[in-house]
Amino acid sequence: MPLRNQIQLIAYPDRMGHTLADLYAVVERHFSRAIGGIHILPPYPSNADGGFSPLTHKAIDPRYGDWDDIERIAARYDLCLDLTLNHIADESPEFIDFVERGYASEHADLFIHVDQMGAISPDDLAKIHIRKEKEPFREVRFADGTTGRVWCTFTEHQIDLNFNSPKTYAYLEDSIRHLAERGVKLFRLDAFGYTTKKIGTSCFLVEPDVYDILKWVDGIAREHGAETLPEVHDNASFQYAIALHGMHPYGFALPPLMLYSLFDANSVYLKQWLRMCPRNQLTVLDTHDGICIPDVEGVLPADKIQAVIDNVSQRSADPILRRSAANVHCVGAIYQLTCTFYDALRRNDDAYIAARAIQFFAPGIPQVYYVGLLAGSNDLELMESTGELRDINRHFYTLEEIDEAVAQPVVKRLLKLMAFRSHYPAFNGVFHLMYSNDSSVAMCWRLGELRCELFVDLNFKKATVSYVDEKSKRVLSMRC
Ligand code: BGC
Repeated sequence: MPLRNQIQLIAYPDRMGHTLADLYAVVERHFSRAIGGIHILPPYPSNADGGFSPLTHKAIDPRYGDWDDIERIAARYDLCLDLTLNHIADESPEFIDFVERGYASEHADLFIHVDQMGAISPDDLAKIHIRKEKEPFREVRFADGTTGRVWCTFTEHQIDLNFNSPKTYAYLEDSIRHLAERGVKLFRLDAFGYTTKKIGTSCFLVEPDVYDILKWVDGIAREHGAETLPEVHDNASFQYAIALHGMHPYGFALPPLMLYSLFDANSVYLKQWLRMCPRNQLTVLDTHDGICIPDVEGVLPADKIQAVIDNVSQRSADPILRRSAANVHCVGAIYQLTCTFYDALRRNDDAYIAARAIQFFAPGIPQVYYVGLLAGSNDLELMESTGELRDINRHFYTLEEIDEAVAQPVVKRLLKLMAFRSHYPAFNGVFHLMYSNDSSVAMCWRLGELRCELFVDLNFKKATVSYVDEKSKRVLSMRC
């Protein structure tokens, strides 16, 4: 069964209430008509990076619940889970065994032994696309007192997997099978761009290796009835390439593009992107990461990107910077802005609803992050207490807070729009961008005699939907 063409919620296993059972109850109570799928951020036991340092993909952290909770959600909604392709935790049984037995461990080949890669010159090092302020290597002290180095792109807990070893493919195949049998329909292929290590290159998205790896994962997922969503933040051309290889790309250019369009009341660049964006994409305005800048380079001119950065920076935390020498050309060397999308739009309800309406009418399956769903504001307290900048947009909602949040007029308006997007049949038809002037957008979907149109006036932040009513066949209009 292909994915439902309905909105997906992105949620943590423990931040809408405390457990997966709470998440399910909350969704059933408030959002069941608005969504058709859920991307649950990593529910596995993990020792770092908000779940993205899994000890295994074959267990659920008991603090969140168990597989029955996952299967219950999968029985009602299309379930998306992360396959953390690039790394596993240093507390995984495989890495622990490696530390214990050294290179004699049966798992040794799962990891990348930096000292066996040949000479790595300062020039080689400078080319590597890095994600921290030091080289992506970590020392390992083995039980016998000797030491070695492994590749480690992200935190020191996340140990990169070796894609030159059959062991890695066997480990991933086993994980995919296990997850698909529990109902996963869509695998988000986390940070796949870092899987290609070739000294003398950026070690990031190196072709043809990267597509060989993706095609292999996608093939295994398909054998198990699931689809894939490779995750990468870089120039939008990579999303087109993913689409050409038959997988679902993310429409990551949209969040900064949407902010620009609303701030400047200018639809020119948005319309250029809408005309050509991959039709099988998943769209977002917000995720558990920040608002990514590299994705919009080449889609918006540099001075307009800078204007968005300057504007949002007035009410966000510090941006997350690009580290790699090879990427200093990135506007302001900024990688992500850290702010909730509602705050980025100055908590202006009309602007926020207009943004969501455009997202929902854009080609692709829309995803809505839980903080955005609840029109949440920056959580400075959480961010300051953890020191993780992205935590500004990762609030822990209690069940009471959720009840309060859904009572806000802006959330009521959003839910009505989401229900329309998830159920009106014309969204399964053909998309058209209609004529509008440079300060507005007009989009339409048609299927047989059914048709729905969105008109957004970017100056006045007014969004209106008109549609042919399924029963009466009369044209009705709805102010969003
Ligand atoms: C996830 C991040 C995570 C990184 C490493 C990403 O792309 O979205 O949240 O820090 O992968 O796993």
